[in-house]
Amino acid sequence: MENTERKALGIMGGTFDPIHYGHLVTAEVVRSEFNLEKVYFVPSGNPPHKDPVKVTDSQHRYLMTILAITTNKYFEASSIEVDRIGKSYTYDTVKYFKENYPEYDIYFITGADAIKEILTWHRVEELLDLCYFVAATRPGYDLEDLKKKELKVLPKAYLERITIIEVPAMAISSTGIRKRVREGKPIKYLLPEAVEHYIYKKGLYIGK
Ligand code: NAP
Repeated sequence: MENTERKALGIMGGTFDPIHYGHLVTAEVVRSEFNLEKVYFVPSGNPPHKDPVKVTDSQHRYLMTILAITTNKYFEASSIEVDRIGKSYTYDTVKYFKENYPEYDIYFITGADAIKEILTWHRVEELLDLCYFVAATRPGYDLEDLKKKELKVLPKAYLERITIIEVPAMAISSTGIRKRVREGKPIKYLLPEAVEHYIYKKGLYIGK
């Protein structure tokens, strides 16, 4: 699938509530595997499929993303979805990057659970024409099942644009981290120290 003649960049899409080492390892593995020049981390502003009351303010999630990526020269953060008024559709984000980087192939990286629902996404066929997808899974996930069952309704040409990878570090989860903070348990070594300090300083995830 990798096209060695063309330049490529990655868009790492997620709610990042909070960003953790699982996300960072995923982005780095995909960057190296697909020879991506840069990976842009794009925290969702107003996730189209989520209750806004339950998601932490986008400014906090964006700032934590910036704190997390500082030590990797290939990683950038983009506020494109955070700044957007209304729902954050991946189609609009990928289109924006495609228009600004026309000579690049684009790889949209996110969780396999999110990709499973891709058929419900806004303008999905146009989106599938615009980019490749990398779906990251936690260990134990049945990769074959995803392609054979959930995604099998996709035309073959689109299916070929989706790569599924297992990332052991994705055993860490944002849900698990929020729960640990709520229960007063340590989150050290699950996410960058600067993000850990930010969570405590701002009192995030307490009572959530
Ligand atoms: P989610 O439902 O919060 O996450 C689903 C699963 O994927 C979780 O296990 C999550 O783990 C994992 N995950 C999320 N982002 C990941 C990443 N970048 N790398 C590795 N694993 C990741 O999904 P979401 O974050 O809201 O949505 C994922 C992306 O799909 C976002 O960019 C969102 O905007 C896009 N999306 C677009 C549409 C649309 O355009 N209509 C609809 C749905 C989703 P953690 O909880 O640990 O992160």
